Amino acid sequence: MKIILPIMIAMLFSCTAYSAEVPAGKQYQTQFNKLKKAAGSKVNHAKLYIDTSDMNKDVIAYQGTGRIVFTQGEILFNIGHLDQTAHIMAHELGHISNPCRGSSKSCERQADLYAVRLMKKAGLNHCAGGQYWKRMLSIYGNQSGPSHPSFRTRYNYLRCK
Ligand SMILES: [Zn+2]
Repeated sequence: MKIILPIMIAMLFSCTAYSAEVPAGKQYQTQFNKLKKAAGSKVNHAKLYIDTSDMNKDVIAYQGTGRIVFTQGEILFNIGHLDQTAHIMAHELGHISNPCRGSSKSCERQADLYAVRLMKKAGLNHCAGGQYWKRMLSIYGNQSGPSHPSFRTRYNYLRCK
C-alpha cells in the first residue's frame, strides 16, 4: 500500500491532465486539414488538440507524436481571427515537418517563414502572421525572451508589405 498509493495518485493526476485535451472543433480541423494537405506526407501523423484546462496563451508541437496542443487561452485570444489561428497551426506544422537544430530563435524564424509559404500554398491568408503579431504588439508591447524573436522582429519579417 505504501508503494501503490503514490502510484495511484500519480496516475490520477496524469489522467486528469490528459483528459483536459480535446480534439479541436470542426472550424479548426477544416483549416488544419487544408494546411496538412499542402504540407505533404511529413505531417500525416499531425493532430490538433485544445487543452481546455489551460487559460495561458501558448501552443506546443510535439515532434515525435505530431500532437499540436493549443491552450484554451490562445484559442480565446484568436476568436474572430481564424486565419491567424491557422497561421499558428502552420508554424507548428513547420516544427513537425522540419526538425531544426540551430538556435531556438533561428528555428522559430524558420517555422514562421515556412508558415507564410504553407498558408499561401493552402490558399489561406498568408498575411495573417503579420496581422497576429501586429495585434500582439498593440496589446502587449514589444516583448522578447531567450527562445523566440521579439514581437516586433516577427511582425517585421511576417507582415505583408
Ligand atoms: Zn515555434
